[in-house]
Amino acid sequence: MLVLDLTAESTAPPASRLQAGAAGAYLGLAVGDALGATVEFLLPREILEQYGVHRELIGGGWLKLRKGQVTDDTEMSLALGKAIVGARTVAAEPIAIAFSSWMKSKPVDIGNTVRRGIAHFRQTGETQVPESSYDAGNGACMRSLPIALCTLGAEVEAVATANRIQSHITHHNALGDAGTLTVIRMVQTALTGGTLRDLKELAEALVAQEPQYRYDRRRMENPGGYLAETLKAVFQSLFATDSFETALIDVVNRGGDADTTGAILGMIAGALYGHDAIPKRWLAALDQKAADDCRAQAGALLALSPQCRGR
Ligand code: MG
Ligand code: MG
Repeated sequence: MLVLDLTAESTAPPASRLQAGAAGAYLGLAVGDALGATVEFLLPREILEQYGVHRELIGGGWLKLRKGQVTDDTEMSLALGKAIVGARTVAAEPIAIAFSSWMKSKPVDIGNTVRRGIAHFRQTGETQVPESSYDAGNGACMRSLPIALCTLGAEVEAVATANRIQSHITHHNALGDAGTLTVIRMVQTALTGGTLRDLKELAEALVAQEPQYRYDRRRMENPGGYLAETLKAVFQSLFATDSFETALIDVVNRGGDADTTGAILGMIAGALYGHDAIPKRWLAALDQKAADDCRAQAGALLALSPQCRGR
């Protein structure tokens, strides 16, 4: 069983600013998911015809969601976070079990690669799928926030290990690992006082390592589920704006896999701009059970981190 040891005895309480940043990241993820889901799989031109600029949590979309309802992006994050909090470490088996019981709950949406990975675990007991060039989708990245929170303050290699443990249950691909690790490090950098410029440096380092993530050319519209496309849209929106609200509206109105671009941008921008930068009308409309779970998990995951245990 793959396990990252995070156990320690210190129980120093997390600083309140970190707490607020972590809650901002988790609620940002959920708000981005709920906002984007309405326009998932639409083209920018179709969004414009149907909604003008899409800027409210109204539900609907191809999944016929309730107002403020979240999808697999938030639900899988919560399943991952619950497994980590329960085990007090990042261990593959409890996470795989949590994903499996989430799938059993008949979720409103589930990606093909995720379904296949969970089926592989159920059939073989293996917590890692074989490496595959088809696994560079965004399904492991969209749920990666709990890793960012529980490994805050750890060495980069330990963060990367934790990321691989959760990712490889369904997605085993080096390009995907690199993109997801960058998102995790962006969240961590923002939580510990980093600026937009610092986040851009992380994006540039990713591009230098994996040129498929190059985002400075044509505007990415209708981004698909391939992580390189998803992150191009996220980076373009993040770096062209200066607030949580403008960044999130910019990315979801590009259409395509909009709940997932919204979720990933939302977790980064929520960490960067903080809880209070999330528009009140979005927090009021967000599914309240999901919001409560996000708030509770943000604190519990942060409390596990080396940063908050003073190591
Ligand atoms: Mg989704
Ligand atoms: Mg999606």
